[in-house]
Amino acid sequence: MEEANRIYLSEREMPTIWYNIIPDLPRPLDPPLHPGTKEPVTPQDLEPIFPPSLIQQEVSSQRFIDIPGEVLDIYRLWRPSPLYRARRLEKALQTPARIYFKYEGDSPVGSHKPNTAVAQAYYNKKDGTKRLTTETGAGQWGSALSMACHYFGMECTVYMVNVSYRQKPYRRVLMQTWGANVFPSPSENTKTGSDILHETPDSIGSLAIAISEAIEDAVNTPHSKYSLGSVLNHVLLHQTIIGEETKLQLEKVGEKYPDIVIGCVGGGSNFGGMAFPFLRDKIAGTKNFRAIAVEPKSCSTLLTGKYEYDLGDVAGMTPYLKMYTLGHDFIPPGIHAGGLRYHGMAPLVSLLYNAGIIEAQSYKQNEIFDSAVLFTKTEAILPAPESAHAIKAAIEEAKKCKETGEDKVIVFNLSGNGYLDLGAYDIFVNGGFPEANNGS
Ligand SMILES: *Cc1c(COP(=O)(O)O)cnc(C)c1O
Repeated sequence: MEEANRIYLSEREMPTIWYNIIPDLPRPLDPPLHPGTKEPVTPQDLEPIFPPSLIQQEVSSQRFIDIPGEVLDIYRLWRPSPLYRARRLEKALQTPARIYFKYEGDSPVGSHKPNTAVAQAYYNKKDGTKRLTTETGAGQWGSALSMACHYFGMECTVYMVNVSYRQKPYRRVLMQTWGANVFPSPSENTKTGSDILHETPDSIGSLAIAISEAIEDAVNTPHSKYSLGSVLNHVLLHQTIIGEETKLQLEKVGEKYPDIVIGCVGGGSNFGGMAFPFLRDKIAGTKNFRAIAVEPKSCSTLLTGKYEYDLGDVAGMTPYLKMYTLGHDFIPPGIHAGGLRYHGMAPLVSLLYNAGIIEAQSYKQNEIFDSAVLFTKTEAILPAPESAHAIKAAIEEAKKCKETGEDKVIVFNLSGNGYLDLGAYDIFVNGGFPEANNGS
């Protein structure tokens, strides 16, 4: 075993394909249904919202899809991202397990989100879109799309969930620096937003509300389309570069195969991006390992939600998707892992969970931050609160290895850094979160 701490790939070793898991699923996905007729949606139904290239990608049955050169050029600003061996964390836990983490926090906005933002902006530009609208929770997605739109010369309007708009002002500034227009959601810009404000003037907002606003805006404004940062098949597709790189990096360092692959789940994109390239082997029956999706206790979609058709937003602007859901009008508590406050789950991740191919775990906010602080003290990177869910699960598995003496290989995705989440750390290191906001 090579004694590396950081395992790099050169720019030339960067994968040039995305992996589409659709043709390898154990059973076909249930089709999205039209919100009005409840009939399967047609590509024409989606054209007011998405550009033709992305509609095509959403239902593609091609296993590997070439990453366009212009997208690769922008990826090279921060990709390939490093894989780290968490030696100091292993030592602190006195575990025989070998823990690796893939670090997506080195991207320009501090998370994995630009992997799809750049791709979506590219395809929109190619298809003639001049302006993109979107929602954002913690601001990670909004920043990624603001940057991507700027690179492709498009305007960008972002509806930011009100509680995060107030908790995380610096991400708003980042979006505005790239030239985006940012509104707290619910807003007066749309019918959905003003109806909600009429009933609940101090609404903390939710991703489901912000999505409705962004779609309503796109549909009613010429040359505008809408862009979603997670959940959809094409978004998870674009994120698979994470897992494809990780496979090469583990090989490079002499690891045969991971025993456990972990990611946090909000809408499912960073988890899917990390796990799907490995799951390709598991589904083919050539490898076996555990894939664990980690969610917050207070918004535990896989473990406590129902597997049924539900809307992706609050107002019924999106199709019905077959997914695990807490209900499209569920407003999750204002936990600091804003990116995990979503009522639904990617249909691809939902199907794999339902089929027993992946597992799920959930944790409370205080235990998440305990793990985040231990990670910062050992590995020195301050994790995003979302990513700390994956860290917590990795720590728990590593502790089990200590009990059993097994030297398992644990790989998790560190989806982002937390340097713009210091407000949350401030509360935690100076007394912790009150039980009422702990997500029990
Ligand atoms: C948005 C975000 C998430 C959650 O979204 P997924 O689509 O489930 O990946 C997780 N971590 C970070 C850092 C994020 O910005």
